[in-house]
Amino acid sequence: MFLLPLVASTSFSRSGCFGFFPDADGIPRSRNNTSLSSSSRGRQRRLELRLQPSSTSPPVGHRHGQQQQHHGSMGAARAGNGSDGIATNLPEADDYCLTARDIRCVVLDIEGTTTPIPFVTDVLFPYARSNVRAYLVDTYRTRQTMDDVAFLRAQIDKDLADGVPSAVLVPPPSAPEEEVIDALVANVEAMIDADRKLPALKQLQGRIWRLGFDGGEIQGVVYDDVAEALARWHGTGTVRSYIYSSGSREAQRLIFGNTEAHGDLRRYLSAFFDTSVGGKREPRSYYEIWQTLGVDSPSQILFLTDVYQEATAARDAGFEVLISIRPGNAPLPEDHGFQTITSFAQISV
Ligand SMILES: [Mg+2]
Repeated sequence: MFLLPLVASTSFSRSGCFGFFPDADGIPRSRNNTSLSSSSRGRQRRLELRLQPSSTSPPVGHRHGQQQQHHGSMGAARAGNGSDGIATNLPEADDYCLTARDIRCVVLDIEGTTTPIPFVTDVLFPYARSNVRAYLVDTYRTRQTMDDVAFLRAQIDKDLADGVPSAVLVPPPSAPEEEVIDALVANVEAMIDADRKLPALKQLQGRIWRLGFDGGEIQGVVYDDVAEALARWHGTGTVRSYIYSSGSREAQRLIFGNTEAHGDLRRYLSAFFDTSVGGKREPRSYYEIWQTLGVDSPSQILFLTDVYQEATAARDAGFEVLISIRPGNAPLPEDHGFQTITSFAQISV
C-alpha cells in the first residue's frame, strides 16, 4: 500500500476562481459578500488517498528490465486477485501483441482501467461536491456558468418529469440568487451521490475540477504501467491512443495533463471522447468512434475497460477488447468470455 497525498480545499480560493471566471466587465468580484469562498478561504484539508498497488505493477525503473520475467510470472500474480473479490479462473492475456493483430488505435476507459476507481470516488467527486456551492456563488453571473446552469436546469426539469425522487424544483432565474443556488446545489449533490452519468453534471464538475487542478490542489493519478505503455505505443509511430470516458473531455484532459507521477501525458493521446458520441454501453457509440478514427476495420481498434457491459458493446461493434482487472474494480461475471489483463505491460507492440 502507498499513500498518495492530495490537498483538497473545502472551497475555492478566490484568486484561483476569479482568475478563470471574471465578470463580464473583466473585474473579478464576489456576488455575495457572505459567500462560502470568503468565509472559508484558506481552510484546507489534506486528503490521503490510500490505494492498493497493482499486484503486477513493479516500481518504476524496474519494469522494462524485468518485462520478460514479469510476463512469465503472470499466473501467480493473477491468482492473488481473488482476495479483492474479483472472479478468478478468467482467461488472461499473457501477451497481447498490437502489431500482430494489426491494431492501429487503442481506446482507453479511465476509471478502473488507467486510473484507480478510488481516485474518482474518494477525491474527484468529493472535491466537486464540497465546492459546488462556492463555485456557483462566485461565478453565478458569468456567461459560462449561466450556460452551465441552463444545461443543468434542463436535466432537472427532465428528472422532475420522470419522477426522479431526489430532483428538487429550481426557482426561475428571476428568483433571488441564493434560492436558485440552494436548489441547484441540492440537485447536484444528489446527482453526485447517485453517481449519475449526466452530461450537465459532468460539465459542471469539469469546471470545478479545473480550478482544483490549476491551483495544484488536485493531481491526476494514472497507473505507472499505463504511462509507460502510452509512451511505448506512441514510440511505434503506428499506434495511436485515445480516451473514451463518461467524464467530460475537459476532465479527461485535466487528469492526463496533470498526473502526479508522470506529468503531462497528453502528448501520447490523440483525442478524447466522452458520452457526446453515445453511452458507453451502446454499440452505436463504438461505431461512431470507429468512423471518427478512420481505420479500415473496427477490428483495428483495441478497447480497454473494466466494465463487462462496455466490453460487450465494443465487441458487438467489432472492436478488439481486453478487460482491465485492477484492485478495487467490481467483480466480473464468471463466464464473461473476454481476455483480461492486470497490467498494460501485458500489451506488447
Ligand atoms: Mg471504467
